Amino acid sequence: MANPLSDTKLRSVLDKWDVNYKLYPGWTTRTRPGGVSPNGFVIHHSGGPYTHSDSYLEFLFETGRPDEGIPGPLCNFAIDDLGVCHVGSIGRTNNAGPGFLKTKEHVIAEDYPGYTSELNPGSDDYNNGNEFYWGVEIMYPGTLAMKPAQRVTAVLLSSALMDGYGWTGLSSIGHREHSSRKWDPGQLNLATFRTDIKAKLAEGPDVPLSDADVVKNWSQDGIVDPPDSLTTSTNPLWAPKSALKELLVGRVHLETSVKAVDDKVDKLQLDVAALKAAVAAIPGGATDVDAIATAVAAKLAESLELQFNPKD
Ligand SMILES: [Zn+2]
Repeated sequence: MANPLSDTKLRSVLDKWDVNYKLYPGWTTRTRPGGVSPNGFVIHHSGGPYTHSDSYLEFLFETGRPDEGIPGPLCNFAIDDLGVCHVGSIGRTNNAGPGFLKTKEHVIAEDYPGYTSELNPGSDDYNNGNEFYWGVEIMYPGTLAMKPAQRVTAVLLSSALMDGYGWTGLSSIGHREHSSRKWDPGQLNLATFRTDIKAKLAEGPDVPLSDADVVKNWSQDGIVDPPDSLTTSTNPLWAPKSALKELLVGRVHLETSVKAVDDKVDKLQLDVAALKAAVAAIPGGATDVDAIATAVAAKLAESLELQFNPKD
């Protein structure tokens, strides 16, 4: 059994693991009577719609289901459909309820093959799940997959808590592994989920890059240069900043070439007009000026084509 993480300790591990979280007013003191000594973490789905509504948070953290004898708080954390983790309580919550004693023993010992399979609880023979487990409600239907952002946050939240308590991923279970009365968290495969937590814990939290790191990354040879690059034989790898410079210089060259072609076309159009006028001025008046102008324009286009796309 462990003491609940203090508010300070909880915030420090959430920050350390870069969990996207918001503190729900009253989170440090909200609790059911009876106390809590967390030794495991239960994943739930809310079973309602994908949502990030304030009224749903109020239901989860405050109101609950008093008519069914289950007043709030119903969970310690809630992850909305935008992937934000709301922290509603560090106390005891009505999340787990009665469940299977053997599951609790496996969670304490972390001795089950939980990275490849799920636990199958028998009948509820342990009545004190709320004292033993903290829980998160993920605000999604369960009949459908959770939003990618929700899953990312769920893995990070679980990793942060496992780290804060010194547990492995095997201390995170689904509600259906605690009690056969339940099927949540729906479509979430808990073996895969625990494997993701294990990998995240092994990888460690993201460390922000310093300014010096950023400069170093942009200056270091590391990207393969284009196959038709003139420097392939002498410099097969470029630094990102060199590649960027190459692109910018290429763009300037391209703009200059396009402008030169535009100028030539303008001049040729003027030549065609002048020729047309000259032909019209030929004495006799019987000449088909338009036909001649069309023929001259075609000839000029052909010459232009040869000039810019020589057939060599
Ligand atoms: Zn549940």
